[in-house]
Amino acid sequence: MRLLLVEDEPTLRTSLQAALQDAGYAVDVADNGQDAQHLGETEPFDAVVLDLGLPMLDGLTVLQRWRAAGRTMPVLILTARDRWHEKVTAIDAGADDYLTKPFHTEELLARLRALIRRAQGAASPLLQCGALTLDTRSSRVTMDGRPVTLTSLEYRLLAYLMHRPGRVVSRTELTEHLYAQDFDRDSNTIEVFIARLRRKLPPDTIETVRGLGYRLAATPA
Ligand code: CA
Repeated sequence: MRLLLVEDEPTLRTSLQAALQDAGYAVDVADNGQDAQHLGETEPFDAVVLDLGLPMLDGLTVLQRWRAAGRTMPVLILTARDRWHEKVTAIDAGADDYLTKPFHTEELLARLRALIRRAQGAASPLLQCGALTLDTRSSRVTMDGRPVTLTSLEYRLLAYLMHRPGRVVSRTELTEHLYAQDFDRDSNTIEVFIARLRRKLPPDTIETVRGLGYRLAATPA
């Protein structure tokens, strides 16, 4: 899963970026409204954390432009305590959730998990595929109850597929959702990570769909 974090306050931005990365997300950051608007219009994000008070272009305008451009990714806005009317305006403009500063990082993470799973139509933070269970709250994967040890990239890859069971996902899509923009992306490395992941999972969990990409078997044997 790949997130966009838009926050102009350096200390908060740095700590949130670290927390989101620790939680297993690929994170792109923007510290002003113009960069945010551009990134959100051109890159595919699974969710966005958007501060409203931003230099160059305010967060509300950024959000309105994304929605006007047909961008539908879930957006969680950050607002100052005394700006309740901003929340109303932002929700009407297409924000999906909000947090009032200051907030606990755990709450931000929980709200993001909920936004991401709702966007994919999943009701539970526990994703199941046959004997495999992925707990989005703890970023842990188990097979028949036994822990499966994954690197952060392997986890991100599996989480992306498990949010989309039975759907074919192309290598390009995986590349775009597993890495932040400043990463040296190479879609060939996806094959390497898929191969490593397969060795840790039950056989046939991840199918190759020739010429199209990969699919998590909806009900593996
Ligand atoms: Ca701000």
